[in-house]
Amino acid sequence: MPHFILDGKEIQFIQGQTIIEAAAKVGIDIPHFCWHPSLTVSGNCRVCLVEIEKMPKLAIACSTLASDGMVVNTNSVKALSARNAVMEFLLINHPLDCPICDEAGECKLQDYAFDHSVGESRFVENKVHKEKRVSLGTHVMFDGERCISCSRCIRFCDEIAGVNELTFINRGDKVTIDTFPGKELSNPYSLCVTDICPVGALTSKDFRFKSRVWDMSSTKTICSGCSRGCNVEMWVRNNEILRLTPRYNEEVNSYWMCDEGRLNTFKSVNADIRVNGPHIKRDGTLVKAGWDEVFALATSELKSYNKSEIAVLGSAFATCEENFVLAKFAKSVLGIKNIDFAKHEKPNSGDDILIRDDKSPNSFGAELAGIHPLKDGLNFQNIMRAIDEKKIKALYLVEDDLVSLDEDYKKILSKLELFIVHSSNFNSTTELADIVFPAATYAEKNGTWINFQGRIQKLLPAVMTVEMDRSLDGMAMSRLDKFGTEFDRWGKSKKMNARPIWKIITSLANALGTKYKYQTSEEIFDEMSKTIDLFKGLDYQRVGELGVKLNVTTLAKVKV
Ligand code: SF4
Ligand code: SF4
Repeated sequence: MPHFILDGKEIQFIQGQTIIEAAAKVGIDIPHFCWHPSLTVSGNCRVCLVEIEKMPKLAIACSTLASDGMVVNTNSVKALSARNAVMEFLLINHPLDCPICDEAGECKLQDYAFDHSVGESRFVENKVHKEKRVSLGTHVMFDGERCISCSRCIRFCDEIAGVNELTFINRGDKVTIDTFPGKELSNPYSLCVTDICPVGALTSKDFRFKSRVWDMSSTKTICSGCSRGCNVEMWVRNNEILRLTPRYNEEVNSYWMCDEGRLNTFKSVNADIRVNGPHIKRDGTLVKAGWDEVFALATSELKSYNKSEIAVLGSAFATCEENFVLAKFAKSVLGIKNIDFAKHEKPNSGDDILIRDDKSPNSFGAELAGIHPLKDGLNFQNIMRAIDEKKIKALYLVEDDLVSLDEDYKKILSKLELFIVHSSNFNSTTELADIVFPAATYAEKNGTWINFQGRIQKLLPAVMTVEMDRSLDGMAMSRLDKFGTEFDRWGKSKKMNARPIWKIITSLANALGTKYKYQTSEEIFDEMSKTIDLFKGLDYQRVGELGVKLNVTTLAKVKV
């Protein structure tokens, strides 16, 4: 394999790779602003200037192809002095308003100013002032003074989102970015420009001024917005989720995520309508009850129906482990055949970039974990019909707001004699329930989802529940400990009295006389890897941060 020398180190490369690309592949970061591995090269920031032996002038590493035997220096006197000069030039008109800038703490300009600039400016003239608060679209604010004209945002819109929304206007030190006349920055991925803007020029209207980045913890997890399962970082302060940002996974979402997933998936975790503790219906109203009381009631009520009168609905929002335990409970404890889950397809809402029509994160996983009708059992549509005809009298539903799918279900579900629901939030479906178990959200539990590609991916808890105080392993606790206060400014606990679905079902199965011994979702995963063909050979640790693809050939044969 051809190789070149970078700062005395041998770097192998593939023909056609630039110096910066080849270095990045082996984890060496050559300073850069405008270069991005997923965008075309523009070569305008000049920070990646390097000295190449036998070349008369410095060259930019982002557009110079690596060649066999080349000797490259990023830290020679000439390269360092050029980088210092570029930094001095970039900072001439920069407002240096780091103390009030949202990007502080994760700003390339700030980092490079520390590492590569001389620490003071020789510029004594007046700085050029530009507009500081320009709304570019529904979600993004622009600060013209902070912009270093790297063009990453323009290239993102053109090349990834596939829309020409942004462009440069004016010249020289008056240059700035703007939307094309009559257009807004309104593509479904618009907030990705805030991730790739190397400075604080583009900020999210939703997140700006909410928190300094160093006051938050971040957890590697998965977006719940559709069956793509974009890899994300979940950012939390004081047990409250403040933002999601995309996490690189070339197989799933590359560096990107959509605005809908970024803005509208996590807010239900922070919502005021969370189900905090078990509830039972008394005199037509749901009221709080103790766990033991609710388990006793659910047990005696479930025992009072014939098997053919009960149906169980799993969920494409619950984890594989939760659906697995639910399916096992339905089959071997309740002894029923009417098991299924509701699909959340929105035809033609997806695109060719990331967004999928299936608005649930785990329909593959629910099916694989055993949530489907047994022989002679009813599927979802027939279960609803049987409830309408009063043949099914008791329904056990986990983590799904059926009424939000179809208003007509309200009338049908109100015909039930017994309706048990696991839900994280109160909604139009829980209003109809007799018993509501408080479900931990995807941000409060461990587990796995399987995306539309058949990739099994891990969720990790980023927000604490009351339960987790006692049950988390040491590693997770140490990550969560630093959240600081667990109380909001009114002194109300921010930790929900909620449990993962598998845990509640384990208690219920035990109350019904079957001994389930699950202590962690990992133990359930182990059992799945012994009993489900596609999971064979997998272990929880191997799933890792980027997930593992299941055998797709076999997967295609699975009925979905
Ligand atoms: S707004 Fe940010 S990403 Fe866009 S050109 Fe300016 S510095 Fe680059
Ligand atoms: S494409 Fe789907 S999974 Fe990805 S961020 Fe959007 S909603 Fe979430």
